[in-house]
Parts: sequence; C-alpha cells; structure tokens
Amino acid sequence: MALRNIVKEGDDILTKRAKEVPEVNEKIKGLLDDMIETMRANDGVGLAAPQVGVLRRVFVVEVNDEVYELINPEILEESGIQTGDEGCLSVPGYIGTVERPAYIKMKGLDRDGNEVLVEGTELLAVALSHEYDHLEGVLFVNKALDLQEIDADDE
Ligand code: ZN
Repeated sequence: MALRNIVKEGDDILTKRAKEVPEVNEKIKGLLDDMIETMRANDGVGLAAPQVGVLRRVFVVEVNDEVYELINPEILEESGIQTGDEGCLSVPGYIGTVERPAYIKMKGLDRDGNEVLVEGTELLAVALSHEYDHLEGVLFVNKALDLQEIDADDE
C-alpha cells in the first residue's frame, strides 16, 4: 500500500465526470488499498478516486469504524434532507453548510466484483452522497449554503 497525493480544488480532474470501471482487477484493489490508507492518514471520512488523480468511479468511506468500498456506484433511493457542516480533503481550510439526503441507498461492486448494497443515514448518508458527488465532478463548495474559513491548526 502507498499514500497517494490528494488533488486540490482548482485541478480540472475534480470537475470531470469519472468513468466506469470496466473490470475489477488487481489494479483496482491496489487503488482501494491506497485510498483507504490515504483517507486514514488525512483523517478523512471518505475519499473518491478523482481526489487521488484517478478519473474512475470508485470511492471509499469509513464511518463508525466500518469501511465501505464502492465501484461503479448507483443511487437507488434517496429521501429526506439533513443539513450540516462538512469539509473535503480536496478543499482544505474550509467548511460549509450542505443539504444532503437523510437516507441514501446505493448499489455498486465490491473489490471482488460482487454487487453490494449500501444504505445509510446520518453521517454515512452524508459521506456516501459527498463521495458520489466527486464522481460527478461536484464539490461540496458547489452546493454549500455558506462557506467558512477554518484555521487548520485548530483541529
Ligand atoms: Zn470531498
């Protein structure tokens, strides 16, 4: 496993729609491993492949000590609204208020190429929605109702 550099806002890759993964192979497994390591090293709740410079439909999320890996995710269901502050490893130093679904259900492939269903509420729903947006080329700052600068040293 290896740490990967996180792409920051201003890089074009973050505004592009990521492409489907044609085949779940060893390269994708290695990408998932690196993304989890990079997410944890940066205290993130999630990370999408475009954030490490790979324009593919892959993301990882870790909420309540559980890791979710999704390849070619699709949103099956969304309901309700929750509003909260969020940030992004690609937009360091800022948080913003964003509306997210209160409940979200997705399907995708796991690292073995098997179809999996993931559903979540609260922080998991926020994280799944946020990471899915990355695959569509959308950053939270594009949706934020407000944006606040934070002092990174305060964390
Ligand atoms: Zn993000």
